[in-house]
Amino acid sequence: MTLPAGARIGILGSGQLGRMSAMAAARLGYRVHVFAPEADGPAMQVAAARSVAPYEDAEALAAFAAAVDVVTFEFENVPAAALAVLAGRITCRPGVEVLATCQDRLAEKAFLQRVGVPVAPFAAVAEEAELPAALAAVGLPAVLKTTRLGYDGRGQAVVRSAEEARVALRRLAPAPFILEAFVPFAAEVSALVARGADGRSVTYAVTENRHRQHILDLSLAPARIPPEVAEAARRHALAVAEGLGLVGVAAVEFFLLPDGRLLGNEIAPRPHNSFHWTIEACRLSQFEAHIRAVAGLPLFDPGRHHDAAMRNLIGPEGMARLPALLADPEWSVHLYGKAEARPGRKMGHATRLWPKGALPAAADQL
Ligand code: AMP
Repeated sequence: MTLPAGARIGILGSGQLGRMSAMAAARLGYRVHVFAPEADGPAMQVAAARSVAPYEDAEALAAFAAAVDVVTFEFENVPAAALAVLAGRITCRPGVEVLATCQDRLAEKAFLQRVGVPVAPFAAVAEEAELPAALAAVGLPAVLKTTRLGYDGRGQAVVRSAEEARVALRRLAPAPFILEAFVPFAAEVSALVARGADGRSVTYAVTENRHRQHILDLSLAPARIPPEVAEAARRHALAVAEGLGLVGVAAVEFFLLPDGRLLGNEIAPRPHNSFHWTIEACRLSQFEAHIRAVAGLPLFDPGRHHDAAMRNLIGPEGMARLPALLADPEWSVHLYGKAEARPGRKMGHATRLWPKGALPAAADQL
């Protein structure tokens, strides 16, 4: 299936990833129809058509399916049941199995292991009674996470003792949990793969990520890691895309250990915050790659032509930097159209380029 210009692409979710995907789709001549419960999300503001309804509204989903030519999602916390309803009526890319695997941390970790990506020791904790056995298996310190609906550090806690683990579990309950060994990583890196409907995949330069309070703050591309480590991360991303039968883009987040080993942490089966720099630094941005895959258009090597730094603008603190960034021609500023700069909220990002090989050593101070 190749969508002709003028065709309608449905996107579930109305955040900034949907917004930038919709903008890439518009450039290719497509009309984007956004379905989300919020009326004024970043993607709604740039959509050609909108459905504002809960994800559980079967009637609204049926009308949405009838109004579009293909469906994708911009966020993996969209209920898989909503995508399953749509999948009975229309092509969904990626498919519902991909969403189901990636929105459950236990299923995701098991899948990573299955396709040969090493992960930190982990154990399922369905209820409090299972905690002691999990602690014995995983050790301390550890990270207790809800298996679902966690992102940007929500739904997780670092625990240093059995007592802390019990307190965290009661605070985060009711939910099934995963207990993971705390990883003393040297760096965090991510790899991005785009896979087309024809099964051909392309990968992007591995990115190095800095977090603040569990939220991505800064990404540097390419990551300052040995070439063989970058190659391993790309190979893992390709194995993930192949194993998922992905049509679209997916990012794999890794911890890099001091000895050079990579441990897979998470899969995001959609454009990823750490690859926003691809808009300016590549011939093929992650958003265009996603839309091309969903629309059945050809993919090609992303053709990175610059090194890049991408800084998130988070909450009031991030927005305080905006006037200086807007006045500086070195920075490409992207704002997501969110009215209120609440603490921890991603309001926008800014990207800066250097010639290939010239990413300054002090880029992480930017
Ligand atoms: P996640 O929601 O799994 O992506 O976790 C958000 C961030 O928390 C990660 O990017 C890490 O900085 C930190 N984190 C998560 N899991 C672990 C772990 N097992 N060990 C150490 N840090 C972690």
